[in-house]
Amino acid sequence: MIPYARQTIDAADIQRVVEALQSPWLTTGPLVDQFESAVAAKVKSEHAVAFSSGTAALHGAAAAIGVQPGDEVIVPAITFVATANAVVYCGARPVFADVCPDTLLIDPQDVLRKISARTKAIFAVDYAGQPCDYGRLKQIAAGNRLTLVADASHSLGSSFFGRQVPQWVDLACYSFHPVKPITTCEGGMVVTNAQSLVPRLRQFRNHGIDADHHRRQALGTCQYDMQQLGFNYRLSDVQSALGLSQLKKLDDWTAQRNRIADRYRRQLANLPHVTPLCTLPGVQSSYHLFVIKWNRDQTGIARDDAIEMLRQCGIRANIHYRPVYQHSFYRQTLTGQNISCPVADDVYEQIISLPMFPGMTGDQVRQVVGALDAAARRGQRHHRDKAA
Ligand SMILES: *Cc1c(COP(=O)(O)O)cnc(C)c1O
Repeated sequence: MIPYARQTIDAADIQRVVEALQSPWLTTGPLVDQFESAVAAKVKSEHAVAFSSGTAALHGAAAAIGVQPGDEVIVPAITFVATANAVVYCGARPVFADVCPDTLLIDPQDVLRKISARTKAIFAVDYAGQPCDYGRLKQIAAGNRLTLVADASHSLGSSFFGRQVPQWVDLACYSFHPVKPITTCEGGMVVTNAQSLVPRLRQFRNHGIDADHHRRQALGTCQYDMQQLGFNYRLSDVQSALGLSQLKKLDDWTAQRNRIADRYRRQLANLPHVTPLCTLPGVQSSYHLFVIKWNRDQTGIARDDAIEMLRQCGIRANIHYRPVYQHSFYRQTLTGQNISCPVADDVYEQIISLPMFPGMTGDQVRQVVGALDAAARRGQRHHRDKAA
């Protein structure tokens, strides 16, 4: 089976984790600070606060910028549910903006249409690893006094006109789930240049308590005060050890992902029924995903059947993502919101995420392209047989 994604764990990673397990710290210790500093340096951001998951990081970011009941936050129609859930956790309402048909990135024109007096922030998603149109989004956020947050879960290693995502936005959130660019098993990070948000983020991930155990030790006190309702969203030292080791390999893995994407593009150019999403000029994608649009009309085969045919060839493809508002929870809770995202509804029926991971071989790419070709031919043959 060729998986759609796969983590890479080597001997150096294992060694680092073992050392952390043998240290006096298992959870909040020196490695969390080191990992935060290393990520901040890597993405050229001043501050970084580690969280127990990308979802917790998004929740922390939303809370830190003051998202609260009565607010609206604009999120793209096509993203992982966690982007919208973070808004709901704060008692606010996600408002869905449509995506651009060739990239599945949030459409700045539709963001403009969906801004209201209640809008507090835009949560943009760097879908598949390609940064959003941050030139335009930054302008829109500034013109409407909105906070611009990047859900950069896919885009560690990417850049937009020579600058990394955190340099374009107020806060950026990363995920270190195993399928993401680097992993800590579960984990996340908020990065920002806004010093004022840092104490709130740190408090929020530690129950809303004003001083963690290091600070209490330094102050020589056993007292602490819980100042806001926070959560236990801490990342552990053991996980940070893995993250530090993984981060060293990010550049190499990003280059590998880009080479695999180039191979796909060259070979898929011969398949008229398959259209890869576009990577725009000025963009360096981290290629978390390689997504194609499958043409159902030309092949006579529905997208889900194409995925099943790939599976029969030992290839696991995937779908990223069903529009968030189509999920039962959102159908039930968003009654009254007039959702209009025609591009998302249409493109969702066509998208397939092909296997993409560092270490994927040229042979495996050829196998996937061959299986896509075979699936279309089977569909056309079936059509002819029916017509005859
Ligand atoms: C993975 C992901 C998340 C959530 O990250 P976890 O670390 O799994 O909590 C949020 N948004 C997007 C777009 C993601 O892909």
